[in-house]
Amino acid sequence: MKIHASQVLSGQNWLKNCCVTSVDGRIAAIEEGASADQADCSVDVLLPSLANLHSHTFQRAMAGMTEFRAAGKESFWTWRELMYRFLDHLTPAQFEAIAAMVFMEMQEAGYASVGEFHYVHQQPGGETYANLSELSDRIFAAAQQTGIGLTHLPVLYTYGGVNQEPLTGGQLRFSNDVDRFLSLVEACNGNLSALPADAQVGIAPHSLRATSPADLARVLQATPQGPVHIHISEQLKEVADVEAKLGQRPVAWLLDNVDVDNRWCLIHATHMTEAETIAMAKSGAVAGLCPITEANLGDGPFNGPTYLEHNGVFGLGSDSNVRISLTEELRTLEYSQRLRDMARNVMVVREGSVGQTLYTGAAQGGAQAVGRDAGTIEVGKLADLVAIDRTHPALCALNDDQILDGLCFVASDDVVTDTWSAGRHVVKNGRHREHDAIVARYKTAISDLLDSV
Ligand code: ZN
Repeated sequence: MKIHASQVLSGQNWLKNCCVTSVDGRIAAIEEGASADQADCSVDVLLPSLANLHSHTFQRAMAGMTEFRAAGKESFWTWRELMYRFLDHLTPAQFEAIAAMVFMEMQEAGYASVGEFHYVHQQPGGETYANLSELSDRIFAAAQQTGIGLTHLPVLYTYGGVNQEPLTGGQLRFSNDVDRFLSLVEACNGNLSALPADAQVGIAPHSLRATSPADLARVLQATPQGPVHIHISEQLKEVADVEAKLGQRPVAWLLDNVDVDNRWCLIHATHMTEAETIAMAKSGAVAGLCPITEANLGDGPFNGPTYLEHNGVFGLGSDSNVRISLTEELRTLEYSQRLRDMARNVMVVREGSVGQTLYTGAAQGGAQAVGRDAGTIEVGKLADLVAIDRTHPALCALNDDQILDGLCFVASDDVVTDTWSAGRHVVKNGRHREHDAIVARYKTAISDLLDSV
């Protein structure tokens, strides 16, 4: 496919009147000063698309249902209670319908790919499905339907707390020991052939709460390649629990006891000391930041300035999917920093555009986290691309150096006109190619689910 764009962001530079050609999902040519005559389609501003590095698709079904306060109960409680109630009833078909909806919304918001941190594996009550990878297969089917670039991350979730408490209630659907987990990963890898070649499987030890040091060592030894994601330090109670059990805070313990490198993505590296922040930045791992969800759950702000000063890599994820918006995710990250520091333009080292720093940083860090050879528009990279409309009222007043600031701080996702996932032209004129069918199936699934809970 040959795409003509009035301008293209390649690295940190703007190219004018450009044709970008993709062959077999990769960028084969970039021609500046080319006419639109021979192009298959014509767009305004072409950017590298972001990977959404952290998602739990099924949680989308609960969006908006837990925003009330119940007297005498901790704030997290209402959210968790409803999640477990849903899990008592959620069927594989509903799982697939919700995942397709969420993937479609991500692509319409401008994300080309997703890291699906997938932790529901078993039937209600904990019994396995006849097909061990039943629910992973449903995620695969949703990826197939939407065309999103999938990095599937099956989760190892064994214990109910740092003292290796047994799982109970809704958590039983997450349950795997190391042996069954490795069988699941193998089954997922075997099923990859059903998806386009850019899809892949990584692993996700859930957290230092839900796995043990010995189990973590075993799964890492058995999986020497591919992305590794972990929830690391989201809530203060989690930090205190890990410190009491392992003698160190979670990020410090992980960096001192495990070979953390650029395969790793540390989700919610929210609570870190200065020393942990610097050590993590130097490790080459990606900080998986989920600003909207972290704000929604009241987690706290990330230590952005220190992390960027030490060249830390970061990317963005929509996590609970309470709201799927690329533009809002970017601005919530910066605003969380401004509110804490009572300062403007925080997430940029020395000087420069905040929007460009956040966007290009998240594009490259996101691609690294999900193991995709993407994140920049260069020959040989995957054609993960997004087009935005610069003539939109939110952007029409801005010059080249301000476009990404406009995207981050002014625009809504309706400036997105087209998205390509590894060259698959999935969103045109702001709509996914299967929008109506996916929405209809989602509504039926949600109505059935609500009838059952
Ligand atoms: Zn998460």
